[in-house]
Amino acid sequence: MAEKRENVVMFPFMAQGHIIPFLALALLIEKTRNYKITFVNTPLNIKKLRSSLPSDSCVQLLEIPFNSSEHGLPPNTENCDVVPYHLVVRLLEASASLRPVFKQLVEDIIRQQDGQRPLCIIGDIFFGWMAGVAEEVGLFHAVLSGAGGFGLACYYSIWLNLPHKQVKKDGGDHFLLPDFQEASKIELTQLPLTMSVADGRDSWSIFHHKYLPEWTKSGGILFNTVEEFDDIGLVYFKRKLSKPVWAVGPILLSTENRIRASMGGATPEYCKAWLDSKPEKSVLFVSFGSMNTISPSQMMELAKALELSGRHFIWVVRPPIGFDINSEFKANEWLPEGFEERMRESEKGLLVNKWAPQQEILSHKSTSVFLSHCGWNSVLESLSHGVPLLGWAMAAEQFFNVKLLVEQVGVCVEVARGKTCEVKHEEVAAKIKLLMSDSEKGKEMRRKACEVREMIESAMKDDDEGGFKGFSVKAMDEFFHAAGTMRFQTHTPNQLNGTNQP
Ligand code: UDP
Repeated sequence: MAEKRENVVMFPFMAQGHIIPFLALALLIEKTRNYKITFVNTPLNIKKLRSSLPSDSCVQLLEIPFNSSEHGLPPNTENCDVVPYHLVVRLLEASASLRPVFKQLVEDIIRQQDGQRPLCIIGDIFFGWMAGVAEEVGLFHAVLSGAGGFGLACYYSIWLNLPHKQVKKDGGDHFLLPDFQEASKIELTQLPLTMSVADGRDSWSIFHHKYLPEWTKSGGILFNTVEEFDDIGLVYFKRKLSKPVWAVGPILLSTENRIRASMGGATPEYCKAWLDSKPEKSVLFVSFGSMNTISPSQMMELAKALELSGRHFIWVVRPPIGFDINSEFKANEWLPEGFEERMRESEKGLLVNKWAPQQEILSHKSTSVFLSHCGWNSVLESLSHGVPLLGWAMAAEQFFNVKLLVEQVGVCVEVARGKTCEVKHEEVAAKIKLLMSDSEKGKEMRRKACEVREMIESAMKDDDEGGFKGFSVKAMDEFFHAAGTMRFQTHTPNQLNGTNQP
């Protein structure tokens, strides 16, 4: 017999930075609301998720067939954490080809449930096509953005308008966004490479011009963010799309539900033991997320900076740009001579190969500052523990996240921009020292990061007895209320024989 609880169907793009917030939301919905979750992804991602799900979770994992080789990708390439960066756009294009299969899959879910319709579909920011599927099968659809409001607003506006093209032609070095002036001045150096070289005819522009406008067909956007410090971008989307926007974050994966990466890494126990041996607030954590990496010369300068700063650090070392993925990665071949041994013997630094238990590290009392690419999940994870950031954006909307954190929130000092810029170790070391010392700036950043942590705690507070609900919890209530109400407006008659009953 089909189960009576209604489904929420979720499908994130195949990247850790997307899957992680989707899974965190799925587990939160399962825990706090009476819905059944159907979590869709490609076979290899589902396999990994199976081993990450808590044993008592009823989240149903559903495979959508996918063969990377058919899309000009290496075999078994189903996640950005294994795709060379220049092929990420191919994975995006390939994901759009899943439209008909996804539609079929949703229709099957409805049939298998004796016609009981899912409450809604929650899709990815990169799956604009999904809003059309939802419309065709008569379901309510919302986008879940793992990116913050400000970062995504800049990203969206720039991709759709390409305002920097003219500025470049005119020899300028900065610009304003025509429909998002509140973002203030954006420098050309604050653009990711894909955007910087975009001319409207390249693969990224074509993909975004085709699918971003499709959001207008959606019922609204759920943001993994906190309205109190990220409201400018949320206002932009309300104005731009005339759709509701729900800031429900931060939705974070708890350390028990950690996702395993597709590659190597250190165990949480190993990192914890190392951190336990260090004084409180004395360790710098260095990581550039799940898919980005720096150039060989930047890697060299960063290593020298870490040594020169004299601070304790954990560094997630990933193969640099240009590394041949078919060969074995040996970190010390890319680092200053004797660096690894010196760091090990002095116990100053821990080098972790490719993947670290980030949440555990950021939540440890010895961690003081995070040198990060400022992917939005990393930002939220850091600030949730009151850890200020040293920002080094690499790609996507990360540059705008840094801009927000530096200019508006005051919890970040920018270290460098991009994967190709020249980096001087003396300058990086000086910034590390600035933030980790008792300098006024350092104290100010740490104080602000603690204030933001309190904002976050307050936004997520759900105290039934005291009757207090934080902004993010209220926004989640509003989302479910909207989904419950709007799905009746979404139904169109006679779509799936006899399956239009709510
Ligand atoms: N992550 C991790 N260990 C690593 C690298 C990344 O656990 O070594 C997790 C991190 O905690 C975050 C996600 O992967 O939840 C990365 O998302 P983010 O938005 O920060 O960056 P992206 O990888 O999408 O660029």
